[in-house]
Amino acid sequence: MKEKDYFLDDRPKKLSYSEVWEKFFNWARAQSLWVIAYGTGCGSIEIPPMVTSRFDAERFGVSTVGTPRQADVLIISGYLAVKTLKRVIRVYEQMQSPKYVVGLGACTVNGGMYYDSYNTVNLVDLYIPIDVYVAGCMPRPEAILAGFAQLMKKIKEGRADGWKQYIDNLDKYRKNQEKIIKNWKIPNYNW
Ligand code: SF4
Repeated sequence: MKEKDYFLDDRPKKLSYSEVWEKFFNWARAQSLWVIAYGTGCGSIEIPPMVTSRFDAERFGVSTVGTPRQADVLIISGYLAVKTLKRVIRVYEQMQSPKYVVGLGACTVNGGMYYDSYNTVNLVDLYIPIDVYVAGCMPRPEAILAGFAQLMKKIKEGRADGWKQYIDNLDKYRKNQEKIIKNWKIPNYNW
């Protein structure tokens, strides 16, 4: 390779005007994450210590809100019963995009100790997109904070795109949801 080519290849990629703005917005989004406080399983007991004085998640910009319409992040805090899944879908669909989902504990990954239960969801990702998993049973507040650090990194890099996947593949997600939830009567909050 000629010396000239080397320098040309090594130059940072030139970004378009809209790409620069998108990068800036992603940086800003990652600095302020509002979490809808919605407990689905036993892992939710670790959320209060995370947001109060001992672990103080707010120093990283992570704060809780009481309504889905103002929230950026939904935490699935453990096992999901089919009945709860219906509520989770409803909450998720009411959140404004861009929105992110954190799966807390082994139960969100593969059903955990409830893997063969008749009314517990094994792979949450089939029904709503998960951006970050935090492993453990149950994960301690430090682990949850590490999960948020991972989520922030993904948002800044533009890789936390579960909400886009949900829009693009809504038919697929709906089919999966309707398969498991009988008597489907959920208002369509999607666009
Ligand atoms: S992973 Fe463990 S702590 Fe979390 S919901 Fe499942 S059983 Fe409970």
